[in-house]
Amino acid sequence: MTETLGTSGLILNEPLLWERGKKGRCGYSMPPGDVPEAPLPAELTGGGPDFPDLSEVEVVRHYTRLSTWNFGVDTGLYPLGSCTMKYNPKTNERQAALPGFSSAHPLLPAFLCQGALRLMAELERDLAEITGLDAVTLQPAAGAQGELTGMLVLHAWHRSRGRQRTKIFIPDTAHGTNPASAALCGYAPVPVPSDGRGVLDPSVVAGLMDEDTAGIMITNPNTLGLFEENIREIARIVHDKGGLLYGDGANMNAVMGVVKPGQIGVDILHLNLHKTFSTPHGGGGPGAGPVAVRKDLARFLPVPRVVERDGLYELREDFPDSVGRVLAFHGHFGVLVRAYSYIRSMGPEGLKMASRLAVLNANYVRERLKGTLHLAFDRPCMHECVFSDQDQQASGIMTLDIAKRLMDYGYHPPTIYFPLVVHGALMIEPTETESKEDLDRFIEALQAIAKEAAENPQLLREAPGRCKVRRLDETAAARNPCLTG
Ligand SMILES: *Cc1c(COP(=O)(O)O)cnc(C)c1O
Repeated sequence: MTETLGTSGLILNEPLLWERGKKGRCGYSMPPGDVPEAPLPAELTGGGPDFPDLSEVEVVRHYTRLSTWNFGVDTGLYPLGSCTMKYNPKTNERQAALPGFSSAHPLLPAFLCQGALRLMAELERDLAEITGLDAVTLQPAAGAQGELTGMLVLHAWHRSRGRQRTKIFIPDTAHGTNPASAALCGYAPVPVPSDGRGVLDPSVVAGLMDEDTAGIMITNPNTLGLFEENIREIARIVHDKGGLLYGDGANMNAVMGVVKPGQIGVDILHLNLHKTFSTPHGGGGPGAGPVAVRKDLARFLPVPRVVERDGLYELREDFPDSVGRVLAFHGHFGVLVRAYSYIRSMGPEGLKMASRLAVLNANYVRERLKGTLHLAFDRPCMHECVFSDQDQQASGIMTLDIAKRLMDYGYHPPTIYFPLVVHGALMIEPTETESKEDLDRFIEALQAIAKEAAENPQLLREAPGRCKVRRLDETAAARNPCLTG
């Protein structure tokens, strides 16, 4: 037996793991005999990029300089509505980097990763408590995949009752992923208009609801930052006709510890851990979209599921009604560690306080900018507020110009042209982690921009003027990206 030090620092027991031609314990086998030295294909060795001959210090300076061109929550306020770009405590990063978590191989047998499995089981319980629902899967890799998983569960539930339905109701304020997820599951998405106050009217839902409708997807608070106050009645209408209520929980940052969706009629709900529960995101980095369900839907959740027996945790696949796997292995485990660390360090009171401050901050911004920008719905909001360019249109200024000019003032632009129901929408989500001083500076920047729009609109049309690049042709940039600099 030879023992070698693997690159991971683990002692590899060579013959045991890699006995040639035989199946290892994890089911993989090496081919019999010596592995021939593979010649590298020509396209990998010649004709590739011509790498410059540079010293270490030149490379370090180059990348350090580039990193200062980036904008993130560590640089400044990032009011991207619907995305919850809050500051994520660094301690959560440290827990996720602990070697026992970060080096654990996903094929480790359960008895070698009890801590990781226990963390998953406890996180599932915490999320069930926060959502007021009974069972949770941590597998989905993002909110959109959580939606698809939830739709698969909803579909499996209807099938188990013997009759499949064909439609799903989607409010006109919904995130674009909602109709896409419903359609991926074979349902026809049916848009439901919101009323003049920006919320769903139960009588409209009642008028549309029939026994061919599998359910409704509701984001609460919705993407206008308004609480769907009639949700209980809508749940009753949908349930009475045998449908289910799917909750899009991407906006949970407004209500965690305050509202339990399971107690107001929601049957299935996804959360975005990378929005609400502390994972830095943006640029398409890893996320997690756990799905919580009511007790009688639990048997449809993806496998494997973490099960505790006699104080030991194991991963079990024997759930015959399960919709199956939706992702390799056990989801984005590092994101789960961050969420666990966040929830446990905040505690129930801390989570509630975070939501209350997020709502307070959004209302502060809304109230102070009221006379400056046109408010789409002039009423108290939850965690985000939506303005429009209506008052700037006379000077030929559009939302895009305002957003670009904000970059000159050192801010990340807010979400623009979403939700679609507001013409020229500009959606600000300040989050709970901004101080009053920072909010004041941001508000003053927008006030200054509104003044510029009236007095010198050309300045806005040409913005940004102080950034590394001027206004880009975004369509051309996406179609013909220049990747070599
Ligand atoms: C972000 C978001 C989603 C999608 O989540 P991803 O993690 O980006 O896939 C769905 N619904 C709403 C309301 C969102 O804000």
